[in-house]
Amino acid sequence: MSKLVQGYEVVIGFETHAQLSTTSKIFSRAATAFGAEANTQACAVDMALPGTLPVMNIGAVERAIEFGLAINAHIAERSIFARKNYFYPDLPKGYQISQFEIPVVQGGEVSFFLEEGQATVRKTVRLERAHLEEDAGKSLHEDFIGQSGIDLNRAGTPLLEIVTQPDMRSSEEAVAYAKELHKIVTWIGICDGNMQEGSFRCDANVSVRKPGGELGTRREIKNLNSFKFMQQAIDYEVRWQIDQIEDGIAIQQATVLFDPDTGETRAMRTKEDAADYRYFPDPDLPPLVIGRDWVERVKGEMAELPRVMAERFVKDYALPEYDATQLTQSKAVAAYFEATAKACGQAKLASNWIMGEVSRRLNAGEMAIEQAPVSAAQLAALIGRISDNTISNNAARQVFEGLWNKEGEVDALIEAKGLKQMNDTGELEKIIDEVLAANPKNVEEFKAGNAKALNGLVGPIMKASKGKANPGQVNALLMKKLGS
Ligand code: ADP
Ligand code: MG
Repeated sequence: MSKLVQGYEVVIGFETHAQLSTTSKIFSRAATAFGAEANTQACAVDMALPGTLPVMNIGAVERAIEFGLAINAHIAERSIFARKNYFYPDLPKGYQISQFEIPVVQGGEVSFFLEEGQATVRKTVRLERAHLEEDAGKSLHEDFIGQSGIDLNRAGTPLLEIVTQPDMRSSEEAVAYAKELHKIVTWIGICDGNMQEGSFRCDANVSVRKPGGELGTRREIKNLNSFKFMQQAIDYEVRWQIDQIEDGIAIQQATVLFDPDTGETRAMRTKEDAADYRYFPDPDLPPLVIGRDWVERVKGEMAELPRVMAERFVKDYALPEYDATQLTQSKAVAAYFEATAKACGQAKLASNWIMGEVSRRLNAGEMAIEQAPVSAAQLAALIGRISDNTISNNAARQVFEGLWNKEGEVDALIEAKGLKQMNDTGELEKIIDEVLAANPKNVEEFKAGNAKALNGLVGPIMKASKGKANPGQVNALLMKKLGS
């Protein structure tokens, strides 16, 4: 059951433009590098000079195949390029080459975990399609001289447009989907994922309806290029639509922009229909034919996918599915986990430490795991000292702190901080006897059947041992002495 907002169900579908990581453009040999001086990376094809013809970049096709394989989609054996006609100064041909009726990637799905209250649930978003297309150029408005210019460096840059079914039911779900998709495209290396540079931008189609009713009319929020804005924009849009409907105003289908300064969405234009674009097959390009042998070859050359790796972690390391998914957020995190788990032989402890203490500190310092000052070997050594009972979990956190601050190696830190657990029962028994003698009331209450009175004894014992007593041993000795 999806959660409702003021009695309305939210419905979201995403269209994402992922810029493919080829060095040259989709139909020309011009470079795609970001940030070059205007119009230095636009060749005759990109400028639509008469007599030029597009030539398909095989690297872009290969990346589309990789994406299809990564999300379990059907890869069309024959797909068609179409002209999407519209006039805009940054589109010198007067049309964009895209795919319309028959896209290269069909179906597939993306799944991820979501926190819902106390529970963690798996959510799957179905994909409708992913198609290849070219990007347009850019209009540059020089307000101070009252002129506009066109930069065609971006014209012809290869894009994969990834379209979902309207399967998401909240802004949290939408952001989780976008993050998962971002992980997939960067993991397989088909897109650099740089959102500031526009390499991964999302359009969120948002509508609301009464539960169980027909789909409402959607508005499409364009070009969301940060996860934070994505959430803010959708939340604002949902409230706005509900307010309109509550006021008796019907939603008009429209394309809107999010303004991060005001936190509001505002209409840019009413929505075009497919008919407005007068799509037709591009006669300059033959059908894109992808034989099964090509797909098989690409499959054979691809690195292990995140979901396959997660399944392997469940199987080989007996990890819960949730841990396995968290640990495969990036290749670097996965490699760090595997190195730690192999070195200490305690996969679940390694997972707990990485998802807990390590992530917490990385987040606090806004660092990637590659920058972690604690190596996998050091973390493994630390875990080894917990499992051989040299130190308690609490002491281990202090050692970890020392490792993080580069104060030394595990054993040296345990020594220097005096954290070794008291494994000498004689010494511990002495402490326990003293604490029992000093707290007769607790002893009496415990013997009278109040189990909670034990806490009043364990605390002072741990304190007197300076946290070095092994809690299990303390418990066992206490029970023996109290005769239960
Ligand atoms: P277009 O290409 O014109 O934007 P599509 O029909 O291909 O239109 O849909 C684009 C996206 O909008 C898809 O992700 C789809 O899931 C989503 N979508 C369609 N109808 C709705 C709706 N009523 N509410 C929310 N999203 C929707
Ligand atoms: Mg759209």
